[in-house]
Amino acid sequence: MIFVRSFLIAGIIALAFGYSLSKFFGFWEATVLAFVIQFVIAFVYSSFKISKNTTLTREFENELEQLLSLSVTSIPCPCGNFVYTDNIFVGLENGYTCEKCNNQFRIDVSLTPTLLTTPVNEVSHTFEEISEEETKDVSITQQYTKGTEL
Ligand SMILES: [Zn+2]
Repeated sequence: MIFVRSFLIAGIIALAFGYSLSKFFGFWEATVLAFVIQFVIAFVYSSFKISKNTTLTREFENELEQLLSLSVTSIPCPCGNFVYTDNIFVGLENGYTCEKCNNQFRIDVSLTPTLLTTPVNEVSHTFEEISEEETKDVSITQQYTKGTEL
């Protein structure tokens, strides 16, 4: 359908060119010339577009491969005769079958946060707040006890 429509539009444009250039070339010569030129332009444009798409796809594939290579891990089988190497993902259930002992294994990923900053200011601030609250509580209870004594 799209092909028929673009063919029709190209034909109309070619006829218009043929009519406008009929003084120089003759009507049918100009029409055929305009028709052929349109096809050549369309061919060049589409091949340019295809090559651009291929380049983009290749770049995307390269980036994806780089990203995947970050999650490649080697895990030795408990039998000691086989090392499993593949992409391991945190959100997926990762498993493998050992080629030597034929047992199936599941790989559990455990994440350990390691403290890199010094949290002294944060903690001392919190301690100050806590000690202030404690002294307030003490003074309130002292007042209360004094009140009841009187
Ligand atoms: Zn094994």
